[in-house]
Amino acid sequence: MQDLRTIKPPDQCSPSSVLKSHQQACFQDFLSIAQGWSPGPLQRSREVGVYLRHSSVASVHRMSIDKEAPVNLLPKRRKYRLPQSRSYSNVSSTSLLPEVAPKDNGKICMVIDLDETLVHSSFKPISNADFIVPVEIEGTTHQVYVLKRPYVDEFLERMGELYECVLFTASLAKYADPVTDLLDKEGVFRSRLFREACVFHQGCYVKDLSRLGRDLKKTIILDNSPASYIFHPENAVPVQSWFDDMGDTELLSLIPIFEELSYSEDIYASLGQLRAP
Ligand SMILES: [Mg+2]
Repeated sequence: MQDLRTIKPPDQCSPSSVLKSHQQACFQDFLSIAQGWSPGPLQRSREVGVYLRHSSVASVHRMSIDKEAPVNLLPKRRKYRLPQSRSYSNVSSTSLLPEVAPKDNGKICMVIDLDETLVHSSFKPISNADFIVPVEIEGTTHQVYVLKRPYVDEFLERMGELYECVLFTASLAKYADPVTDLLDKEGVFRSRLFREACVFHQGCYVKDLSRLGRDLKKTIILDNSPASYIFHPENAVPVQSWFDDMGDTELLSLIPIFEELSYSEDIYASLGQLRAP
C-alpha cells in the first residue's frame, strides 16, 4: 500500500491545464489509497505527476498510460466490508438492489451518478460551498467542499416523482453517503450504490447495470463519464461534466426529456429515437 505521507493532499496537487477534473482525480485517489488500493500502471500519469484513477478521467488514462510499468504494480484489492449503509440492507445474493418498492412498481429505474453530474467536490476551500463534509482518512479529518450543480434540487424532485431513482457512484461511501444525505433531503434515492458495487475493468470503475436486478429495457443511466456505462451504452443518457459553472442549465434542460421517457416501455427504442439524426 502506498505510504500516505508520499501522497500529496488534494489541495496541494499541482495545477493542471490538462483537465479541469484534475482536482477531483486527486481527491478520488487520495481516498482510494486511504482505503487500501495501490496505484497501478494504468492510473499513473507521468505528465501530471499524480495518480489518476476515477473513471471520469478515462480520457486522461488513455493519454498517460505507462506501458513500461512492471506487472507487480497492478492494482491490489483488499477484501471490502460493505459499508453500514441502508443501501445494502436488503440486497439479495444475486442483485445489487432490493425488491422494487410498491410505490415504484412499473417505473423505469434511473441510475444517477454523483460527482460532476450532480455536484462537484474538492478539498480546496471555496467560499460558496453548499456543503462542507468532514471525511476521516487514516485518523485525520479532511473537510470536503461540495458545490451543487444548478437546478439539481428541481431535477431530483421531478425525477423522484417519475422514476425509481438510484444513486450509483464510483466514489467511496465514506464521502458519498454523507454528501447524499445533505443533497437528497427528500429521499429521492431509493437506494445508494458506491464504489464497492462497481466492476473494476481496464482501469475504470464500471457500473454494470445487469447486476442491478432490474429489467434493462426499463433502466436508464445518467452519468458524465462514458467509462461508467461502457457495458451498457444503449441505456445511457450522457451529461456534460460539471465543475463550477453556475450558469449551467444541463439538468434543467433534461427534465422535459426525462418526463417524456418516463412513459417508455422500452428505453432502447425511445433513446434510439432521440439519438436518431
Ligand atoms: Mg461522475
